[in-house]
Amino acid sequence: MVKIYLDPGHGGSDTGAVGQGLQEKHVTLAIALKIRNILNNRYQGHQIRMSRSTDSTVSLAARTNDANQWGADYFISIHINAGGGAGYEDYIHSNLSNQGTTGKYRQIMHEEIIKQANLQNRGRKQANFHVLRESSMPAILTENGFIDHAADAAKLKSDTILEQIALGHARGIARVFQLSAKSSPGSSSSFNSSNNQGKTSISKKQIHSVVDYLKSIGEDSSFTNRARLARSYGISNYTGTAAQNTCLLKAVKSGKPSNNSSKLAARRIHLPASASTWRTYPINVTPVKKNSDWSLTPAAFGGLTYDILAEPYPNVVTIQTGRGRRNIYIGPDTSARRL
Ligand SMILES: [Zn+2]
Repeated sequence: MVKIYLDPGHGGSDTGAVGQGLQEKHVTLAIALKIRNILNNRYQGHQIRMSRSTDSTVSLAARTNDANQWGADYFISIHINAGGGAGYEDYIHSNLSNQGTTGKYRQIMHEEIIKQANLQNRGRKQANFHVLRESSMPAILTENGFIDHAADAAKLKSDTILEQIALGHARGIARVFQLSAKSSPGSSSSFNSSNNQGKTSISKKQIHSVVDYLKSIGEDSSFTNRARLARSYGISNYTGTAAQNTCLLKAVKSGKPSNNSSKLAARRIHLPASASTWRTYPINVTPVKKNSDWSLTPAAFGGLTYDILAEPYPNVVTIQTGRGRRNIYIGPDTSARRL
Protein backbone atom coordinates (compact mmCIF):
# COMPACT_ATOMS: atom_id res chain seq x y z
CA MET A 1 0.00 0.00 0.00
CA VAL A 2 1.39 3.34 -1.00
CA LYS A 3 0.84 5.86 1.77
CA ILE A 4 -0.15 9.30 0.55
CA TYR A 5 -0.19 12.16 3.03
CA LEU A 6 -2.32 15.15 2.01
CA ASP A 7 -1.71 18.39 3.86
CA PRO A 8 -4.26 21.15 3.22
CA GLY A 9 -2.40 24.30 4.21
CA HIS A 10 -3.46 26.39 7.24
CA GLY A 11 -6.86 25.85 8.93
CA GLY A 12 -8.79 26.83 12.04
CA SER A 13 -7.39 30.01 13.57
CA ASP A 14 -4.84 30.27 10.74
CA THR A 15 -6.73 31.46 7.66
CA GLY A 16 -3.65 31.58 5.45
CA ALA A 17 -3.77 34.23 2.76
CA VAL A 18 -7.03 36.09 2.22
CA GLY A 19 -8.27 38.01 -0.78
CA GLN A 20 -11.22 38.56 -3.07
CA GLY A 21 -13.56 37.18 -0.41
CA LEU A 22 -11.64 33.91 -0.16
CA GLN A 23 -9.62 32.40 2.67
CA GLU A 24 -6.73 30.14 1.73
CA LYS A 25 -7.58 27.56 4.44
CA HIS A 26 -10.97 26.81 2.86
CA VAL A 27 -9.67 26.51 -0.69
CA THR A 28 -6.77 24.23 0.30
CA LEU A 29 -9.16 21.93 2.18
CA ALA A 30 -11.62 21.82 -0.70
CA ILE A 31 -8.83 20.84 -3.11
CA ALA A 32 -7.37 18.21 -0.75
CA LEU A 33 -10.76 16.57 -0.17
CA LYS A 34 -11.28 16.41 -3.90
CA ILE A 35 -7.86 14.81 -4.40
CA ARG A 36 -8.79 12.20 -1.81
CA ASN A 37 -12.11 11.51 -3.51
CA ILE A 38 -10.58 11.16 -6.95
CA LEU A 39 -7.81 8.85 -5.73
CA ASN A 40 -10.21 6.69 -3.76
CA ASN A 41 -12.83 6.54 -6.49
CA ARG A 42 -10.57 5.91 -9.44
CA TYR A 43 -7.41 4.22 -8.17
CA GLN A 44 -6.35 1.41 -5.89
CA GLY A 45 -3.27 0.30 -4.00
CA HIS A 46 -2.97 3.38 -1.82
CA GLN A 47 -3.92 4.71 1.58
CA ILE A 48 -4.56 8.36 2.32
CA ARG A 49 -4.07 10.25 5.51
CA MET A 50 -4.76 13.96 5.91
CA SER A 51 -3.23 16.46 8.30
CA ARG A 52 -6.77 17.81 8.65
CA SER A 53 -10.08 17.03 6.98
CA THR A 54 -12.02 19.81 8.68
CA ASP A 55 -11.42 23.48 9.41
CA SER A 56 -9.12 22.81 12.37
CA THR A 57 -5.91 24.35 13.67
CA VAL A 58 -2.89 22.06 13.21
CA SER A 59 0.67 23.23 13.78
CA LEU A 60 3.34 22.68 11.14
CA ALA A 61 5.26 20.39 13.51
CA ALA A 62 2.14 18.31 14.17
CA ARG A 63 1.72 17.84 10.42
CA THR A 64 5.22 16.61 9.72
CA ASN A 65 5.35 14.52 12.93
CA ASP A 66 2.10 12.84 11.95
CA ALA A 67 3.31 12.03 8.43
CA ASN A 68 6.66 10.80 9.74
CA GLN A 69 5.08 8.56 12.36
CA TRP A 70 2.60 7.15 9.89
CA GLY A 71 5.43 6.35 7.49
CA ALA A 72 4.04 8.23 4.51
CA ASP A 73 5.57 7.62 1.09
CA TYR A 74 4.79 11.11 -0.17
CA PHE A 75 3.90 14.37 1.55
CA ILE A 76 1.79 16.76 -0.53
CA SER A 77 1.15 20.18 0.93
CA ILE A 78 -1.52 22.26 -0.81
CA HIS A 79 -1.47 26.04 -0.68
CA ILE A 80 -2.75 29.15 -2.41
CA ASN A 81 -0.32 31.95 -3.16
CA ALA A 82 -0.59 35.67 -2.49
CA GLY A 83 1.45 38.82 -2.71
CA GLY A 84 1.53 39.83 -6.33
CA GLY A 85 1.54 37.52 -9.29
CA ALA A 86 -0.64 34.94 -10.96
CA GLY A 87 -0.46 31.26 -11.70
CA TYR A 88 0.80 27.96 -10.37
CA GLU A 89 4.20 27.01 -8.92
CA ASP A 90 5.52 24.19 -6.78
CA TYR A 91 8.37 23.67 -4.35
CA ILE A 92 10.78 21.01 -3.18
CA HIS A 93 13.31 21.59 -0.41
CA SER A 94 16.21 23.87 -1.30
CA ASN A 95 18.85 21.19 -0.63
CA LEU A 96 17.37 18.80 -3.19
CA SER A 97 18.07 18.57 -6.90
CA ASN A 98 15.63 17.97 -9.72
CA GLN A 99 17.47 14.71 -10.47
CA GLY A 100 16.76 13.03 -7.12
CA THR A 101 13.63 11.10 -6.16
CA THR A 102 11.82 14.15 -4.77
CA GLY A 103 12.76 16.12 -7.89
CA LYS A 104 11.55 13.37 -10.19
CA TYR A 105 8.26 13.04 -8.32
CA ARG A 106 7.82 16.79 -8.50
CA GLN A 107 8.46 16.86 -12.24
CA ILE A 108 5.56 14.44 -12.75
CA MET A 109 3.28 16.33 -10.38
CA HIS A 110 4.16 19.60 -12.09
CA GLU A 111 3.36 18.24 -15.55
CA GLU A 112 0.02 16.76 -14.53
CA ILE A 113 -1.15 19.79 -12.54
CA ILE A 114 -0.20 22.24 -15.30
CA LYS A 115 -2.12 20.08 -17.81
CA GLN A 116 -5.32 20.36 -15.75
CA ALA A 117 -5.25 23.49 -13.68
CA ASN A 118 -5.85 26.28 -16.20
CA LEU A 119 -3.33 28.46 -14.35
CA GLN A 120 -0.25 30.19 -15.73
CA ASN A 121 2.95 28.16 -15.19
CA ARG A 122 5.35 29.96 -12.85
CA GLY A 123 7.73 27.06 -12.79
CA ARG A 124 9.42 24.60 -10.45
CA LYS A 125 11.00 26.16 -7.39
CA GLN A 126 12.87 25.36 -4.19
CA ALA A 127 12.45 26.70 -0.65
CA ASN A 128 13.32 25.90 2.94
CA PHE A 129 9.70 25.50 4.10
CA HIS A 130 9.03 23.58 7.32
CA VAL A 131 6.94 20.85 5.72
CA LEU A 132 9.56 20.24 3.04
CA ARG A 133 12.45 20.27 5.53
CA GLU A 134 10.97 18.31 8.45
CA SER A 135 9.16 15.59 6.53
CA SER A 136 11.20 12.41 6.32
CA MET A 137 9.83 11.33 2.93
CA PRO A 138 9.73 13.03 -0.50
CA ALA A 139 7.63 16.16 -0.19
CA ILE A 140 6.11 18.76 -2.49
CA LEU A 141 4.33 22.02 -1.76
CA THR A 142 1.99 23.32 -4.45
CA GLU A 143 0.86 26.95 -4.73
CA ASN A 144 -2.34 26.87 -6.74
CA GLY A 145 -2.97 30.38 -8.00
CA PHE A 146 -2.96 33.75 -6.25
CA ILE A 147 -5.85 34.48 -3.91
CA ASP A 148 -5.32 38.24 -4.25
CA HIS A 149 -5.25 38.22 -8.05
CA ALA A 150 -8.72 38.89 -9.45
CA ALA A 151 -8.59 36.40 -12.34
CA ASP A 152 -6.97 33.62 -10.28
CA ALA A 153 -9.40 34.18 -7.40
CA ALA A 154 -12.34 33.98 -9.80
CA LYS A 155 -11.01 30.57 -10.87
CA LEU A 156 -10.57 29.48 -7.25
CA LYS A 157 -14.24 30.29 -6.61
CA SER A 158 -15.23 27.80 -9.30
CA ASP A 159 -15.84 24.30 -8.05
CA THR A 160 -15.08 23.03 -11.55
CA ILE A 161 -11.61 24.54 -11.51
CA LEU A 162 -10.89 23.25 -7.98
CA GLU A 163 -11.88 19.84 -9.32
CA GLN A 164 -9.41 20.26 -12.22
CA ILE A 165 -6.62 21.29 -9.84
CA ALA A 166 -7.39 18.25 -7.70
CA LEU A 167 -7.46 16.01 -10.77
CA GLY A 168 -3.98 17.21 -11.74
CA HIS A 169 -2.66 16.35 -8.27
CA ALA A 170 -4.40 12.96 -8.27
CA ARG A 171 -3.11 12.03 -11.73
CA GLY A 172 0.38 13.10 -10.71
CA ILE A 173 0.26 10.93 -7.59
CA ALA A 174 -1.14 8.01 -9.57
CA ARG A 175 1.64 8.36 -12.14
CA VAL A 176 4.41 8.70 -9.54
CA PHE A 177 3.33 5.51 -7.76
CA GLN A 178 1.90 3.75 -10.80
CA LEU A 179 -1.40 3.27 -9.06
CA SER A 180 -3.72 1.11 -11.09
CA ALA A 181 -7.12 2.36 -12.09
CA LYS A 182 -10.17 0.67 -10.66
CA SER A 183 -11.99 -1.27 -13.33
CA SER A 184 -15.21 0.56 -12.64
CA PRO A 185 -15.03 3.73 -10.61
CA GLY A 186 -16.57 3.47 -7.18
CA SER A 187 -17.43 -0.18 -7.66
CA SER A 188 -17.05 -2.39 -4.65
CA SER A 189 -15.87 -5.30 -6.78
CA SER A 190 -12.41 -3.83 -7.09
CA PHE A 191 -11.93 -4.41 -3.38
CA ASN A 192 -13.30 -7.92 -3.45
CA SER A 193 -10.34 -10.26 -3.39
CA SER A 194 -12.20 -13.03 -5.19
CA ASN A 195 -12.56 -10.76 -8.20
CA ASN A 196 -8.94 -9.79 -8.25
CA GLN A 197 -7.37 -13.05 -9.31
CA GLY A 198 -4.82 -12.40 -11.98
CA LYS A 199 -4.60 -8.68 -11.40
CA THR A 200 -0.96 -8.03 -10.71
CA SER A 201 -1.41 -4.58 -9.30
CA ILE A 202 -3.45 -5.51 -6.27
CA SER A 203 -1.69 -5.16 -2.98
CA LYS A 204 -1.62 -8.25 -0.81
CA LYS A 205 -3.16 -6.28 2.00
CA GLN A 206 -6.83 -6.26 1.07
CA ILE A 207 -9.24 -3.94 2.72
CA HIS A 208 -11.91 -6.18 4.15
CA SER A 209 -13.43 -4.48 7.14
CA VAL A 210 -15.48 -1.33 7.17
CA VAL A 211 -13.20 0.03 9.89
CA ASP A 212 -10.10 -0.51 7.74
CA TYR A 213 -11.85 0.98 4.76
CA LEU A 214 -12.95 4.11 6.60
CA LYS A 215 -9.43 4.53 7.95
CA SER A 216 -7.98 4.15 4.46
CA ILE A 217 -10.09 7.03 3.19
CA GLY A 218 -9.28 9.13 6.25
CA GLU A 219 -12.80 8.92 7.68
CA ASP A 220 -13.70 8.56 11.31
CA SER A 221 -14.16 4.81 11.95
CA SER A 222 -15.62 5.12 15.46
CA PHE A 223 -18.84 3.32 16.31
CA THR A 224 -20.68 6.64 16.52
CA ASN A 225 -19.69 7.60 13.01
CA ARG A 226 -20.41 4.12 11.62
CA ALA A 227 -23.86 4.29 13.20
CA ARG A 228 -24.38 7.68 11.57
CA LEU A 229 -23.25 6.34 8.19
CA ALA A 230 -25.46 3.26 8.62
CA ARG A 231 -28.46 5.51 9.20
CA SER A 232 -27.65 7.56 6.13
CA TYR A 233 -27.49 4.38 4.03
CA GLY A 234 -30.77 3.08 5.38
CA ILE A 235 -29.32 0.34 7.61
CA SER A 236 -31.63 0.43 10.59
CA ASN A 237 -30.77 -0.36 14.22
CA TYR A 238 -27.04 -0.54 13.61
CA THR A 239 -25.34 -2.38 16.44
CA GLY A 240 -22.12 -3.30 14.64
CA THR A 241 -22.86 -6.95 13.82
CA ALA A 242 -20.69 -8.63 11.18
CA ALA A 243 -23.61 -8.72 8.75
CA GLN A 244 -24.35 -5.04 9.23
CA ASN A 245 -20.68 -4.18 8.82
CA THR A 246 -20.52 -6.10 5.54
CA CYS A 247 -23.61 -4.28 4.39
CA LEU A 248 -22.21 -0.93 5.47
CA LEU A 249 -18.85 -1.57 3.78
CA LYS A 250 -20.60 -2.31 0.51
CA ALA A 251 -22.81 0.75 0.86
CA VAL A 252 -19.98 3.12 1.73
CA LYS A 253 -17.77 1.90 -1.13
CA SER A 254 -20.46 2.04 -3.74
CA GLY A 255 -22.18 5.14 -2.44
CA LYS A 256 -25.43 3.23 -2.78
CA PRO A 257 -27.95 2.30 -0.11
CA SER A 258 -28.26 -1.23 1.19
CA ASN A 259 -32.00 -1.13 0.53
CA ASN A 260 -34.35 0.87 -1.62
CA SER A 261 -34.80 3.92 0.57
CA SER A 262 -33.48 6.18 -2.14
CA LYS A 263 -34.34 9.32 -0.23
CA LEU A 264 -31.88 8.46 2.51
CA ALA A 265 -29.38 7.29 -0.05
CA ALA A 266 -28.94 10.52 -1.94
CA ARG A 267 -25.37 11.62 -1.41
CA ARG A 268 -25.10 14.49 -3.82
CA ILE A 269 -27.19 17.53 -4.44
CA HIS A 270 -27.56 19.32 -7.75
CA LEU A 271 -28.41 23.01 -7.95
CA PRO A 272 -29.66 23.60 -11.50
CA ALA A 273 -28.42 26.22 -13.93
CA SER A 274 -31.85 27.84 -13.82
CA ALA A 275 -31.01 29.20 -10.36
CA SER A 276 -29.00 32.41 -10.55
CA THR A 277 -28.16 32.45 -6.83
CA TRP A 278 -28.51 30.02 -3.94
CA ARG A 279 -28.18 31.25 -0.38
CA THR A 280 -25.63 29.58 1.88
CA TYR A 281 -25.45 29.67 5.68
CA PRO A 282 -22.45 29.36 7.97
CA ILE A 283 -22.84 26.00 9.71
CA ASN A 284 -23.02 27.45 13.20
CA VAL A 285 -26.15 29.56 12.59
CA THR A 286 -29.80 28.71 12.02
CA PRO A 287 -30.34 28.45 8.26
CA VAL A 288 -32.90 31.22 7.92
CA LYS A 289 -32.78 34.00 5.32
CA LYS A 290 -31.42 36.73 7.57
CA ASN A 291 -28.44 34.54 8.51
CA SER A 292 -27.26 34.06 4.95
CA ASP A 293 -24.16 36.06 4.12
CA TRP A 294 -23.04 34.50 0.85
CA SER A 295 -24.61 32.87 -2.21
CA LEU A 296 -23.57 30.27 -4.72
CA THR A 297 -24.25 31.08 -8.37
CA PRO A 298 -25.40 27.87 -10.10
CA ALA A 299 -26.35 29.72 -13.30
CA ALA A 300 -22.79 30.97 -13.74
CA PHE A 301 -21.47 27.39 -13.82
CA GLY A 302 -24.24 25.64 -15.75
CA GLY A 303 -25.46 24.18 -12.45
CA LEU A 304 -23.48 23.02 -9.42
CA THR A 305 -23.24 19.60 -7.80
CA TYR A 306 -21.97 18.90 -4.30
CA ASP A 307 -21.41 15.90 -2.07
CA ILE A 308 -23.78 15.93 0.87
CA LEU A 309 -21.57 15.92 3.96
CA ALA A 310 -24.35 16.04 6.54
CA GLU A 311 -28.03 16.81 6.93
CA PRO A 312 -28.19 18.92 10.08
CA TYR A 313 -31.86 19.92 9.68
CA PRO A 314 -34.71 18.58 7.57
CA ASN A 315 -34.15 19.77 3.97
CA VAL A 316 -30.87 21.40 4.92
CA VAL A 317 -27.59 19.84 3.80
CA THR A 318 -23.96 20.64 4.51
CA ILE A 319 -21.62 20.98 1.53
CA GLN A 320 -17.96 21.94 1.04
CA THR A 321 -17.60 25.23 -0.84
CA GLY A 322 -14.75 27.59 -1.67
CA ARG A 323 -15.61 29.30 1.61
CA GLY A 324 -15.60 26.16 3.68
CA ARG A 325 -18.45 24.01 4.91
CA ARG A 326 -21.79 25.67 4.39
CA ASN A 327 -25.41 24.74 4.81
CA ILE A 328 -27.94 25.18 2.04
CA TYR A 329 -31.71 24.74 2.01
CA ILE A 330 -32.94 22.16 -0.51
CA GLY A 331 -36.63 21.82 0.36
CA PRO A 332 -39.23 20.56 -2.13
CA ASP A 333 -40.18 24.16 -2.93
CA THR A 334 -36.71 24.66 -4.48
CA SER A 335 -35.34 23.27 -7.72
CA ALA A 336 -32.55 21.32 -5.98
CA ARG A 337 -32.30 17.71 -7.05
CA ARG A 338 -30.78 14.85 -5.06
CA LEU A 339 -28.52 12.58 -7.13
ZN1 LIG B 1 -0.21 28.88 2.46
